[in-house]
Amino acid sequence: MAGEPQDDCLFCKVVAGTIPATIVRETETTVAFRDINPQAPTHVLVIPKAHYPNAAELSVAAPELAADVLRETRAVAEEDKLDSYRVVFNTGSGAGQTVFHAHAHVLGGRGMQWPPG
Ligand code: AMP
Ligand code: ZN
Repeated sequence: MAGEPQDDCLFCKVVAGTIPATIVRETETTVAFRDINPQAPTHVLVIPKAHYPNAAELSVAAPELAADVLRETRAVAEEDKLDSYRVVFNTGSGAGQTVFHAHAHVLGGRGMQWPPG
């Protein structure tokens, strides 16, 4: 069923606490933790606690939860005192998605190029 934890999902395991993570924020519906392979001085992942495979499906199935994730990206940026930062939702393997539990990357603390690779 949509939103239910998946046994084989890495980020569901972070939510369950069975895989360790450096958690920086937690709300009733979301968790934010540091990326294990940071690409910038701040690289935090914000995930919904409920499992949706990507941001597109999350946005349609649970728009209020998608808003919670987006609101938390702002809170992460504020906590790390970032006035410029990038929020990325890789969606689909062709765009670089490797973990199929919706997540926002919050990246900041260095200059960035556009377009991304
Ligand atoms: P994506 O490629 O957009 O699906 O992003 C997945 C991200 O999860 C990558 O940036 C990984 O470095 C990160 N990642 C994978 N495993 C872990 C973990 N156990 N704890 C924190 N971040 C992780
Ligand atoms: Zn999951």
